[in-house]
Amino acid sequence: MTDSTQTLPLPEAVGEMYDRLTLSAMNDGTFNPHVHIGFWDTPDSEASLEMAVARLTEVVIDRLAVDDSAHVLDLGCGVGGPALRIAARADARVTGVSISEEQVKTANRLAAEAGVADRVRFDHADAMKLPFADQTFDAVMALESIGHMPDRQQALTEACRVLRPGGRIVLTDAFERAPRKETRHPAIDRFCDNFMVTMADIDDYAALLHRSGLRLRNLLDITEQTTRRTCQELAKSIPGGSRPAGIDPAHLPDQWHPSDMLGVDEFGYLLVVAERP
Ligand code: SAH
Repeated sequence: MTDSTQTLPLPEAVGEMYDRLTLSAMNDGTFNPHVHIGFWDTPDSEASLEMAVARLTEVVIDRLAVDDSAHVLDLGCGVGGPALRIAARADARVTGVSISEEQVKTANRLAAEAGVADRVRFDHADAMKLPFADQTFDAVMALESIGHMPDRQQALTEACRVLRPGGRIVLTDAFERAPRKETRHPAIDRFCDNFMVTMADIDDYAALLHRSGLRLRNLLDITEQTTRRTCQELAKSIPGGSRPAGIDPAHLPDQWHPSDMLGVDEFGYLLVVAERP
């Protein structure tokens, strides 16, 4: 269960935040088609943040294991970078949904520019109530999106509904690592407030999937490869008090900075594979 003291994100507000983020990233030159953190395979990997961000997309697509006959749902598709990679790697059909109109517009433009608009399409929709018939998809990818949704169980139940039996879902999620302190680290609270996310409960994840009709295949703590190093790299590249361009929405009065997260071991990240039985 999500910690009941956490403020639940409202889809409409999350959509507006990503509208602003998308426009500001296009204006200030920080636009990246992959909107998530980085993955470094080894501690001594010298990959840049940009390379590591692209690498996480590949790690997730590896787990999806789809071929050219598949129709994939990208749940919380951002500006379409990951969906376009699925189309390029597996030649699969992809439908992406985002709660941000600006992201959907941008993603459809990128698909047209890549010449794959016949196979890759993006719609504005709320994951809490998907506009698709039962068993429409062979696989679902939810890369760093479920934490923005007000109810993980409802989101996963919807994902399960639109998935065919035997179909697979691969997702990533942020969670608070043990030992959990009585009072949460203020940097995590600020992060959650600024980006409108809640932290998952890793101890409940298998049960959460089961309550949603899914069967757990694999649950991995990939904190060491992801959040920790991402915060280190961002802290290096973004000086002292200034905000991470294109990451921290400029309208926010306050104030999460990646360097706040240095040494915060509780800030964890999960990679989950499940299937509809
Ligand atoms: N998966 C993409 C984007 C991650 S950013 C990538 O890795 O590049 C989080 C995404 O989740 C955004 O696109 C946001 O619009 C989407 N999202 C958040 N809440 C949503 C909701 N309720 N319904 C649909 N999409 C949602």
